[in-house]
Amino acid sequence: MKITKIDVMILKPNQKNTGGGVKIDWANFDRNCRPIVCRIHTDEGIYGDGEAGMLFGVGALGTAGMMRDFARMIIGMDPLDNEVIWDKFYKQGYFTQSGGPIIYAAISAFDMALWDIKGKYFKVPIAKLLGGSRRKELRCYASQLQFGWGPELTPAFQTQDYVNNALKAVSEGYNAIKIDFFTLDKDGSGFTEEQRCGLLEPYYVDLVEERVAAVREAIGPKVDLIVEGHSFTDALSAVQIGERIKQYNIFYYEEACTPTPKMQKYVADALGIPMGSGERIFSRWQYAPYIENLSLQVLQPDLSNCGGITEAKKIADMAYIYDIGIQSHVCGTALTLAASLNFESVIPNFIIHEHHVVQFRQYMKELCTVDFEPENGKFKVPDGIGLGTELSEFALTHCEKWTIE
Ligand code: MG
Repeated sequence: MKITKIDVMILKPNQKNTGGGVKIDWANFDRNCRPIVCRIHTDEGIYGDGEAGMLFGVGALGTAGMMRDFARMIIGMDPLDNEVIWDKFYKQGYFTQSGGPIIYAAISAFDMALWDIKGKYFKVPIAKLLGGSRRKELRCYASQLQFGWGPELTPAFQTQDYVNNALKAVSEGYNAIKIDFFTLDKDGSGFTEEQRCGLLEPYYVDLVEERVAAVREAIGPKVDLIVEGHSFTDALSAVQIGERIKQYNIFYYEEACTPTPKMQKYVADALGIPMGSGERIFSRWQYAPYIENLSLQVLQPDLSNCGGITEAKKIADMAYIYDIGIQSHVCGTALTLAASLNFESVIPNFIIHEHHVVQFRQYMKELCTVDFEPENGKFKVPDGIGLGTELSEFALTHCEKWTIE
């Protein structure tokens, strides 16, 4: 089998104004969502789809450009040789070694598509190729409740808004939730770096503690609470906040500080609670120092930006020898969701699955042929061949596209 043609696409979801009326331009916030995907075609008629995990923030065009360059390197190769192709990207791209999100997101998209092809070729789910599912269901948490929980964006400003969003998720059967308590001020404005970093004024620490305490009180002791930091805080402010909130039984504290192994170790040592991070850490080379210094207890590799399914499996295996758990970061289309569910069903050190609020959005759901929904806070492991879903007709016809052959 040979790779004959690759389509690189920046999708244009049918986004609507789901926010409004607040100081942050929420309509624009949601409009920044533009999935970057690829479809790899072969001479046997089998094709595979993959996603680059750069859904928002800057870098969409850069990622698509990187993918166009990579695509030229693998036309004519056997798509079943995914490790050979991975190493070719890594070693023969010259500046690709020690790369950042753009390089690894591009590699990830192709790697995911190659696994999709391999699954279709052997007519099995990707999980089977990775060693087999060891679980039928995956416990998941309701993620990013500061933006609401449901199809519409309902961001939390007041403490009661956080409580309401948390209780909505719990009422649907989730026994784990995740919230960033330090994204929005009471008037709906976003905090600046200056307000969130360094040694904080009491107002900010008090505000975060008030919100965490209210949510813990509302959800009771049987629901796990993950606190998200998005690396908006730094080591100093993270320790201040962590000292206050650890009394509320935090399942883990995610991206508390600037993502470097030494600062992560400083925060982990200071707080003594489980720490998570990963969406800004790429490849096994970048994960290694965090694993070796034991500064993270939950690694969160994103299968669409860590280097793909191939790389995530290696990161998980490295973590396993240090009793470190895995929760793959998921914030993308159903392609990334399917890849993650397959991967998480296989690895022994799975902790919990992230169900991101963005996956409720109708404009996300219509991008793939099959969507996956949890029931009572649990996902069933998909049993479709390959990824078990693919880009929809809508996605393929609403995009900016480059074809390399
Ligand atoms: Mg996160």
